[in-house]
Amino acid sequence: MALTAIKGFNDILPVEAGRWQHIEQAARRVFELNGFSEIRVPIMEKTELFCRSIGDTTDIVEKEMYSFTDKGENSVTLRPEGTAGVMRALIEHKLYALDPVARLFYLGPMFRYERPQKGRYRQFHQIGAEITGVHDPLVDAQLLNMLVQFFREIGLDEPQLQVNSLGCPECRPAYRKVLVCFLEQRLEALCEDCRRRMATNPLRALDCKVPGCIEATVGAPSMLDNLCQGCADHFAGVRRYLDATATPYSVNTRMVRGLDYYTRTTFEMVTGLLGSQSAVAAGGRYDGLIAQLGGPAIPGIGFAMGVERVALLLADQDFSDHPELFIATMGASERLFAFRLMHELLQTGVRTEMDYEGKSLKSQMRRADKLGARYSVVIGENEVASGRAVFKRMANGEQIDALLTVAEIRGFVCRSGNDLPA
Ligand code: ATP
Ligand code: MG
Repeated sequence: MALTAIKGFNDILPVEAGRWQHIEQAARRVFELNGFSEIRVPIMEKTELFCRSIGDTTDIVEKEMYSFTDKGENSVTLRPEGTAGVMRALIEHKLYALDPVARLFYLGPMFRYERPQKGRYRQFHQIGAEITGVHDPLVDAQLLNMLVQFFREIGLDEPQLQVNSLGCPECRPAYRKVLVCFLEQRLEALCEDCRRRMATNPLRALDCKVPGCIEATVGAPSMLDNLCQGCADHFAGVRRYLDATATPYSVNTRMVRGLDYYTRTTFEMVTGLLGSQSAVAAGGRYDGLIAQLGGPAIPGIGFAMGVERVALLLADQDFSDHPELFIATMGASERLFAFRLMHELLQTGVRTEMDYEGKSLKSQMRRADKLGARYSVVIGENEVASGRAVFKRMANGEQIDALLTVAEIRGFVCRSGNDLPA
């Protein structure tokens, strides 16, 4: 039997990887601009960390975790999300003492045992960011603006920002009662999962993707109408800051999150292009989480975006890199000259290619085409003797007569609109 990858675990092939790099580089650029530093934490943690943070009655902990017992009889889990591990590290290394406002970002693989489909995999990748130590709604708005800026930076005006507030331990229990009352009157219309969750996690019914549940919960009471004064003021603050920067958003009162640690502000970047995998990024406040994990009582807010979903939104764009110059040679005697020229160009950052195997001129030109080289040049005896050659701009056939020196070649390669190192 042929060996294949595990179901739901994908190879990111070179054609895809260009898109991924574009996404990752934009995230680093925008996040660092906003004062965030990268943190790298393990992809495996003690199972208890996720049970205590994400919550025992969430889908993730109930059915999606890759947990197993290691050779030392410890229960360990491949991380299903990033925040728990980052907060564990923040507490373990007392990062809040270093800077009371910690701004961290991470990227890497996450693991959830879900039914694989377009935009939903068992190993997937998230880029996430967290700010801890600030209650003020100003940071909620800055984090959201950073997320919006990231999507703009990669050239997408879709997806759209939706926000909501999930209240706090003061006001959510009362809302929960009101909601349960409403749902109990529509019990037979709800799916089995939602009925089961009625006692443990009734808010999830608002987020259920089963059509019957969507219909049955139209007109459900909203958390926003049941916020305590503190939460209502906080949410109004977030909206004021977003309005001040003219950030486009809408309020989605049905938005709940699949992790128990969220409080107050929650949000999603939503696309209409990926079916039920509509959330491209999601997050919110988790003001109780750090204390719950044994750290100090400091608040936090963060988000994670799904890199596969972002990549799907960019799928029609080509981010692969092409050589600036392909050097073809007439015969074997020019290969040494060409090799040295290629070497010198590479040393100064000009992406250059040549034929590796002494192929015919025709086949060398085919290769230049295939690689998408921007210029090509053919070097024969005359060119070696005179130190000059005619370069061809592949896109339009334009001919450039130039010296075969690094300085001269860099001159027109740079003029043609590429950023080369100085
Ligand atoms: P969904 O409602 O689509 O299941 P979620 O609420 O479980 O998403 P989060 O836990 O908030 O998602 O994770 C943040 C982001 O990570 C999501 O918005 C999505 O882009 C991405 N994501 C989550 N699960 C997967 C998965 N199995 N495969 C690919 N991307 C995922
Ligand atoms: Mg999910």
